[in-house]
This record gives sequence, structure tokens and C-alpha cells, in this order.
Amino acid sequence: MQSSLIGKIEKAKRYAQEPERITFSGLTAVFHGENDDHKLSYAHGKWHCTCHFFSQWETCSHIMALQQILDKMLPKEALVSPIETETYPPEK
Ligand SMILES: [Zn+2]
Repeated sequence: MQSSLIGKIEKAKRYAQEPERITFSGLTAVFHGENDDHKLSYAHGKWHCTCHFFSQWETCSHIMALQQILDKMLPKEALVSPIETETYPPEK
């Protein structure tokens, strides 16, 4: 193998330990919920989920779970849920 490629693989291993280097600007996913599969997306600063709860609350357990899993890899605005901002207004 070329030594330059070996170097890249080594670097990738290091990067993989530093998830804070990565910020998702958008994503789509399928969430296998307890009763059904739900399509999740994050685009242009907004979350969307096809579950019934989301249509009423603009957030849901699927989005909250993804927020916890991706944590450092999501932009700040993607980590704020509408329910939390209602209870605790963000500092300006
Ligand atoms: Zn949902």
C-alpha cells in the first residue's frame, strides 16, 4: 500500500475519536420505533418526523434520541427543542 494512503488511514482513525470535528448541516434517517418506522429529517435548521406526536409538538422521542446520539455533531440550533425553549427561554 502507498505510504500516503497509510497516513490517511491513520489520520482517519484519529479523527474518528474526535466527533466534535463533524457538524451535520442536514440529515435524513429512518427510526425504528416501538410500533412503527418513522422518517426523520433535519434540514435548513428544522427537524421533521412523520410520527403523530411530532405533528402536535414539533418534537418527539425520535428526534430527542437522535439529538442525544449525535450531540456534538449537531449544530447548536439543532439541539434546541421547541418544548425546552418554552420552559426555559434561551439566554440571549
Ligand atoms: Zn417522531
